[in-house]
Amino acid sequence: MKVKKLVLPSIIIIVLFAGLFLLSNRSTNPSKKAVSSRATSFDKMQYSIDAPGSIWWIVNKKRTLPDGYVPQNLSVPKVQLRLDTTAEQMKIRSDITAPVEAMFTAAREKNISLLFASGYRSESYQRQLYNSYVAKDGQAAADRYSAKPGTSEHQTGLAFDVCEAGTNCDLEISFGATKAGKWIAQNASKFGFIVRYQKGKESITGYQYEPWHLRYVGTSLASELQKKNQTMEEMFGL
Ligand SMILES: [Zn+2]
Repeated sequence: MKVKKLVLPSIIIIVLFAGLFLLSNRSTNPSKKAVSSRATSFDKMQYSIDAPGSIWWIVNKKRTLPDGYVPQNLSVPKVQLRLDTTAEQMKIRSDITAPVEAMFTAAREKNISLLFASGYRSESYQRQLYNSYVAKDGQAAADRYSAKPGTSEHQTGLAFDVCEAGTNCDLEISFGATKAGKWIAQNASKFGFIVRYQKGKESITGYQYEPWHLRYVGTSLASELQKKNQTMEEMFGL
């Protein structure tokens, strides 16, 4: 008798729950659900933005490198180089050579012949460079296009400047309007690179537009930044 008394309420409860479950599923448009979960799926905690050497490490005029920082492994990518292979600046972090090479190969397939203009820079080389720019243009002007020693992304080994082979490789803003510059802006993210200093973002990045300066951040962050048209500083609220 006791068991029978419990059976009916149990069935009612089960039927009620099943009904509620079906209703809740029907009221959620499945396509909308998929879109919203994709939009929120980017994980900003995948890598540190503070740890030296992290591929998301954010270095700028306010976030300086540790004194005398040198990346652990540097090597020369197997691409067209502006200088001899022995030059320090022809190096980049060893884990970035493969994406550099893949990007140069893909450009080549579109008849764009890229040249690796300048990669790693030691703190002392950056000091020489910066001092020479200050002597030539004055400090205010130099600060818009050159980093003070200890604040350059080139010192991380994660950044390099690119130009087109057969040009004088002056690294000028007009590069952005060339076929090579446009291809870079469109495709670098597929290989994990971003054009770090974007047009119209000078007050955020602290640098004028540099269509030739690429920074490695990995494909997930690179494509997210491109999709949102954001700088690293905007993405991470700095
Ligand atoms: Zn650069």
